[in-house]
Amino acid sequence: MAVKLGVPKETAAGECRVALVPAVAAQLMAKGLEVRMQPGAGAGAFFADGDYHDVRMVEEPADLYREADVLLRVQPPTPEEIDLLGPETAVLGFLDPLGDPERVARLRDRGVTAFAMELVPRIARAQAMDALSSQASIAGYKAALLAADLAPRFFPMLTTAAGTVRPAKVLVLGAGVAGLQAIATAHRLGASVFAYDVRPETREQAASLGATFLNLDVSGSAEGGYARELTAEEKRREQELLGEQIAGMDVVITTAAVPGRPAPVLVREAEVTAMRPGSVIVDLAAETGGNCECTVLDETVRHEGVMIHGPRNVPGRLPVHASEMYARNLANFLDLLVEDGHWGPDWEDEVVAKTVLTRNGEIVPDAVRERVEGGAS
Ligand code: NAD
Repeated sequence: MAVKLGVPKETAAGECRVALVPAVAAQLMAKGLEVRMQPGAGAGAFFADGDYHDVRMVEEPADLYREADVLLRVQPPTPEEIDLLGPETAVLGFLDPLGDPERVARLRDRGVTAFAMELVPRIARAQAMDALSSQASIAGYKAALLAADLAPRFFPMLTTAAGTVRPAKVLVLGAGVAGLQAIATAHRLGASVFAYDVRPETREQAASLGATFLNLDVSGSAEGGYARELTAEEKRREQELLGEQIAGMDVVITTAAVPGRPAPVLVREAEVTAMRPGSVIVDLAAETGGNCECTVLDETVRHEGVMIHGPRNVPGRLPVHASEMYARNLANFLDLLVEDGHWGPDWEDEVVAKTVLTRNGEIVPDAVRERVEGGAS
């Protein structure tokens, strides 16, 4: 039996992305898969039902969930949606494995085979499936535009008959995937860009995109290319040294994250107060607690004349390209699960083995299982 994919309309508030775009749906059908969608699933990303040629539209979400072998999602399913899944169903999407133990436990208890795109290992072979990266690069680009839009100043240097404008000074904190894209975008807009990250290996990457890397002498690389949580003394030193730099910036874009931990605080209230009125902070870590002490999720707050923006779901603000890139990530991952149109994951494959979250009534990754079971006791 050919694998049947189901693509529901996303139900999370404000989510405009869709897990499958027409071009990728056509590629998957050419490989022998069947595709079913909920009408209007692509509308938020400007894809009409009619763009999905030969895709069967299933009006009732309950029918779609029941008939699908593999559900493709952007956001994690709600408890009610999980209860529509049977043990024969697989679900593939962002599942927030470390952020919501109750949801993971529910997926386990339903016997669902769940793959969390956050868990795709960051190795060269899996780059084409790396949805964290594809969505983070979109967020970084948009963060620079949001900052430019909020700023009461130009980003570029301008020489005009009405005088010369100096370029805005933009500091990007965290030079991972999102930070590097924010650096590149702010640089293209003509700003004078500075960057900092605890991983020293980001220095050259940031410099190659036009940023001046700040020398703070605090280093925190960990396994897998990620940062580790700093010690209390390292945090104090980082904040102290950063504080001196922040006061001179027109714009600060923060993107710092440590997997599975609340976002590190890099900009305290005192640093915000020290910035010039009219300065702007865009905090891309707002959803995980914020890199700035003054951030309020989903709001733009003013603190002594400084505007602090804490946006939610930034990739969702570019739903066309975010959906296209995400759908390609999913399709590339599906190649490891489906052979000649039939379900046949290679459970020994490193990418499959590390991405599976729940299977046969078990939580697979140790770190997630410990968190869920630790929280439950
Ligand atoms: P992330 O979203 O977890 O973190 C963003 C950045 O914040 C990181 O660069 C991190 O070092 C930085 N950070 C954390 N704590 C900080 C602090 N206290 N002060 C300053 N900066 C801090 O990371 P990400 O962008 O998803 O990825 C991190 C890295 O993983 C990438 O830059 C890359 O090196 C690696 N990666 C590898 C692959 C691959 O090989 N396939 C794919 C993607 C990413």
